[in-house]
Amino acid sequence: MLTRGEFLRISALLGTGALLASCTPARPDYAERESASLRRLLILYTNDEHGWMEPVDNYGGAAGLARLWRKIEGHTALSPSLALSGGDLWTGPALSTYFEGEATFDIMNSLGYAAAAIGNHDFDDGLEVLRQRAAQAHFPLLSANLRQKTDGAVPDFARPYTVQTINGITVGLIGLTTTETPIDTQPAHVAGFDFIPYAEALEEVVPQAKAEGAQLLVVLGHLCNSNLRTLAPRAAELGIHILCGGHCHEETVESVEGVTIVQSGSFWHGYIRMALLFDTATGKIAEMDASLQANTKGGRDAEMAAQVAAWREQADPSLWEIIGYAKRKIDWDSLQMAALITRPWLQAYPAAQVALTSPRYVQSLPAGEISRASLLSMLPTDNELVDMALTGAQLIQVIETHRPHMGGLSESGGVYTLADGSPLDPAAVLHVLIPNALYEGGNRFSVREMDPQARYTGLGWREPIIAWVEALGSSKSHPLEEYLS
Ligand SMILES: [Zn+2]
Repeated sequence: MLTRGEFLRISALLGTGALLASCTPARPDYAERESASLRRLLILYTNDEHGWMEPVDNYGGAAGLARLWRKIEGHTALSPSLALSGGDLWTGPALSTYFEGEATFDIMNSLGYAAAAIGNHDFDDGLEVLRQRAAQAHFPLLSANLRQKTDGAVPDFARPYTVQTINGITVGLIGLTTTETPIDTQPAHVAGFDFIPYAEALEEVVPQAKAEGAQLLVVLGHLCNSNLRTLAPRAAELGIHILCGGHCHEETVESVEGVTIVQSGSFWHGYIRMALLFDTATGKIAEMDASLQANTKGGRDAEMAAQVAAWREQADPSLWEIIGYAKRKIDWDSLQMAALITRPWLQAYPAAQVALTSPRYVQSLPAGEISRASLLSMLPTDNELVDMALTGAQLIQVIETHRPHMGGLSESGGVYTLADGSPLDPAAVLHVLIPNALYEGGNRFSVREMDPQARYTGLGWREPIIAWVEALGSSKSHPLEEYLS
């Protein structure tokens, strides 16, 4: 995907919004152009890291990135550079999820991040964990539009913005969090917050950041490009120079209304490199070169590789034990994945006849050996199974509205059949298992009103799957797929 990275580049004269033909060297740093008022800055930006610290496939993970940033970009505590993040920091592979972000933040501290936006998934483990991460971070967590319902204030673990002076440039960094957060994390975790409109938040905090001396204004937004493009004209009026995005895992370097919009993809597969020359006399960017750089080539930083490996060693060793084998990748949205998730649930909770979940909560299971960690990565958020009583008619309505993964029920030509071969009776009451986040309205599910008194079973959504896979004893000669048809 990042092969396009080499080509996503703008060399822009901002203020006029005019794009210049790019005849610049691969990594301009403007060092030779500096004067008393013209100051250079290098911004290194990533979003949606989701804790992918370890190298995967062709990508270098944190050790690859550390090498690029330290050796190639010269990013140190003293360099004229800022490393920034657009949020969704840790829900992801087992190594990150297991430690509830502690390992990821340790790595981000070492990578020298100066600020990060709060993303929707940063609420996945609850507010107490988010508070612990904020205390652990050597950088502030930012969100200007996250407000407590009680008093309208930004909560204690966040700051709306931060002002930092680097190489003579006073930089205002402002955070934004997607207004979709309540449907894209555990709804209960954010029930106490409002996510106010992006423009309204910027109108309030940009003057505050300017009053503290901020000249160069950069938004760290956990928002998709479509939102950033809509926001760009108002951002330009407010004097914002750069809108950094996230959430949609897009790869972007573009200029809208003279505002630079960037997004780096996801999973530390690459980073946005923005080298700029800032005119402190006029408050404008005199020149900027922005590009997406891939974290694929070259070596690894040995110190960072050791730091990541140390976290792996700290995890419960049983996490890495091999408990099964899949011949091919099991895709997150496949019927095989629906069977892998729902069959163990129904076996562990036989009082239910049907099980439903959203494919959007699932990551694909890679081919090859399966460990408990593989299954933790497959379902990276915590959920408890809820037992709802629904009529057959209500169940069909839920299925046709939300198109979930389902178990205990099959559909052919609009006819629904239960696992025992009997047709689904619209009037009969059935017990249906569903993860608590969906029951509570996550992923836009509207089911709670059909059974407001549903039973929380106390059963985690991963444990039955881990036990089921372990009991199967799938192997190269009898891979997991054989049990999922
Ligand atoms: Zn997100």
